[in-house]
Amino acid sequence: MSASLTGTGLHLTLGRNHVLRGIDIHVDAGTTTTVIGPSGSGKSTLLRVLNRLHEPDRGDVLLDGKSVLREDPDRLRQRIGMVFQHFNLFPHKTVADNIALGPRKLRGLSKDAARALAIEQLEIVGLADKADARPGNLSGGQQQRVAIARALAMRPEIMFFDEATSALDPELVKGVLGLMSELASGGMSMIVVTHEMGFARSVSDNVVFMDQGQVVETGAPEALFDAAETPRLRKFLSQVL
Ligand code: ADP
Ligand code: MG
Repeated sequence: MSASLTGTGLHLTLGRNHVLRGIDIHVDAGTTTTVIGPSGSGKSTLLRVLNRLHEPDRGDVLLDGKSVLREDPDRLRQRIGMVFQHFNLFPHKTVADNIALGPRKLRGLSKDAARALAIEQLEIVGLADKADARPGNLSGGQQQRVAIARALAMRPEIMFFDEATSALDPELVKGVLGLMSELASGGMSMIVVTHEMGFARSVSDNVVFMDQGQVVETGAPEALFDAAETPRLRKFLSQVL
């Protein structure tokens, strides 16, 4: 089941950098929020605070309305699926074994049940015929779809994508974005950090524009892209569109 997620008043200092300066973000259950903004604005750090890879100095994170800051971090990260720019698949394991590993170790599934689940997830991402291949024999786009299948096999309540298509050859980007669109329309809650403005505009329910550790503007895609209110967002859009 998809969950809502809320971050309120989030602050984080790393070293001498006040990286997050009072972030508020809310994602309704079953909706997709894209986070856009210049490099270094704190997008990745925000995702890392929302799934507690960093503990915030101030503020709270609520999943389904309940604070997660006292929840066991390992348990929390099972509830949040994460897909990165680099897929980090185990090269010596088959595609199916990469997907089955988490459900076996963390969800206690038997070998057969985990294998069946892996195949089922591979069907969803259109790669059932690659179950016994090694990741190295797949294209970058296929590997990223395996990474998405691996995250989905944990039955997450929300998915985070951090520049999931940035490392892909241009001709492979469309397939991964298409899969992400399908997940979104299937009712998955998602936060998507991306430079793909077409995706942000056409798929997301909400867009968050970050700059220098703050949310500068947030709203529906049409409002942000066609009627940006701040000079900072107008400048950013003029550079990326
Ligand atoms: P984005 O994902 O928007 O490009 P990041 O969240 O990666 O931005 O980084 C935001 C800022 O935080 C950058 O200025 C970066 O240098 C800084 N930062 C990230 N991680 C650390 C760290 N471990 N120590 C100090 N500064 C960091
Ligand atoms: Mg980043």
